[in-house]
Amino acid sequence: MPEIRLEHVTKRWGRFYGVDDLSLVIKDNAFVTLLGPSGCGKTTTLRMIAGLETPTSGRISIGDNVVFDSATGINIPANRRKVGFLFQNYALWPNMTVYQNISFGLTNIKEEMDQFSEEAANASRIIAVLSSPSAALEAVEDSRDKNGKIDEKKALVHLTESFMMPLSAAKRLYQILQKNGTGSFQEEIAELGRTVENERKKAEASGCTLDDEWRLIKDGKPVRSVRKLTKDEIDLSVRRVSKLVKIGMFMDRYPAELSGGQQQRVAIARTLAPEPEVLFMDEPLSNLDAKLRLEMRYELQRLHVETGSTFVYVTHDQMEAMTLATDICLMSNAVLQQYAAPLEVYNRPANIFAADFVGNPSINFIEAEGEQGEDGKVSLTLLDGMKASFIPAEPISLREWFSERNAAKLRKEEEMKAKLQEKGYVEKSNKDEIFRYHIQRAAEIDDSLSGAKAVTDRDFVIGVRPELIEIDEAGPLEGEIYGAMPTGMESTIKVRIGDFLLTSVIFGNLHFRIGTRIRMRIARERIMLFDRTSGNLIALGSIEF
Ligand code: ATP
Repeated sequence: MPEIRLEHVTKRWGRFYGVDDLSLVIKDNAFVTLLGPSGCGKTTTLRMIAGLETPTSGRISIGDNVVFDSATGINIPANRRKVGFLFQNYALWPNMTVYQNISFGLTNIKEEMDQFSEEAANASRIIAVLSSPSAALEAVEDSRDKNGKIDEKKALVHLTESFMMPLSAAKRLYQILQKNGTGSFQEEIAELGRTVENERKKAEASGCTLDDEWRLIKDGKPVRSVRKLTKDEIDLSVRRVSKLVKIGMFMDRYPAELSGGQQQRVAIARTLAPEPEVLFMDEPLSNLDAKLRLEMRYELQRLHVETGSTFVYVTHDQMEAMTLATDICLMSNAVLQQYAAPLEVYNRPANIFAADFVGNPSINFIEAEGEQGEDGKVSLTLLDGMKASFIPAEPISLREWFSERNAAKLRKEEEMKAKLQEKGYVEKSNKDEIFRYHIQRAAEIDDSLSGAKAVTDRDFVIGVRPELIEIDEAGPLEGEIYGAMPTGMESTIKVRIGDFLLTSVIFGNLHFRIGTRIRMRIARERIMLFDRTSGNLIALGSIEF
């Protein structure tokens, strides 16, 4: 399976940048979610990798193949990138059955493939089953309806799925099983064995041998030719994917006769049937209700493991991104903000934007002012004059951190100046701005009016995840319950401290009365210290009051 590599990929329309200088490596067998607010460039990124959108500049490779390179003019069309798509509007063909919907794409494939003996393959599949027939006999027994009569259709689905064989082979197996009850199948096995031998002889007559997978081998190499898939090969592919998404029993139905979730599964099966090495999905679950969405998330997770394919998935739903992904690619205003595993983004967000975007309920931001002391602790004033100190988990010098930040900013400005001199460079009209975080207050004030004071290196933002604010009678923070949302398993409460509101998640089946005064503490882990000037994370640590 291939690795996907994006190098300095940019897409712009005039001066508007849809994707701005994106570099990314999507590892083999990863499940990457492209996450970010509406319009941040997720779909454009996906479409560029898939070959449905031409980047303005940059280079994209899938495995060893460069599929796009603006420098050399390479641009491989979408249909030759060996990728599968699943979009939000996955429209199934209404006049085709489920089986036809899934198999349709396969009937059109015509490419160089191995030649093989289908007769021998099918005969050997049946021999294998008959050699210890109890599982097959059981599968048929399991297919009895409530009147005790064997439902042939059900039996055939069981046989195709249990022993991964095309329907034609399953039919033959079924006939043998029916004819012979529970007896021995020696005669049938011998006859099937003769079929295999005949096929071997036929291959030898043309100077070939048959290998373990019944492929024709000549001079040590598989014989290949440009051909279409056979009916049985198509059937086998359809059975394989319909088993994966559990729609084997609906093969003869039309889309209108299926529920939304079943239709979605058919769409997934249709995309998986040609065995794409990379599967692109753009908000494929957004048309489903909440319960089905959750069910389908589990399906996708399972499919990812079972197919071994690389999944690239667009969503603006951070829960979906968190739960499905091996890596999240978080974007804002066309720019990559963070590319890391979900829990890394949650626990160690690169900046205030990432901290705010991921997590439900949202993270608490607390503005603080202060400086680092000799002992490494940062003494701070926050929440209407309270004194606290932030203790970094790892030693860090803020002076060095600030000077590296300033140097990086200078380097970027220099780069930008140089770029502006370059011929053909177009200045970005959708300018990048520092993310404006929101401080929750009891009396809402317009944040845009509070920015009058110039921000200095004494200004910080502390980020505290709601689950880290705990009720504690001896805790240093005192407040009043402002709102409470119990869900049974946990409650999200808003606590008013002075003019500020902090959100806390309390586990357990508790009752909170609005107006009650409580004391709280902040857990001694995973507290974030952000620089207010750049919005970037400085350090993780703990806070003491
Ligand atoms: P959403 O979650 O709303 O689907 P997205 O992150 O997928 O958003 P994209 O569809 O990638 O966003 O679009 C990124 C930006 O590029 C948007 O601001 C969009 O308006 C703009 N854009 C997309 N296609 C074009 C186009 N053909 N011409 C001009 N601008 C475009």
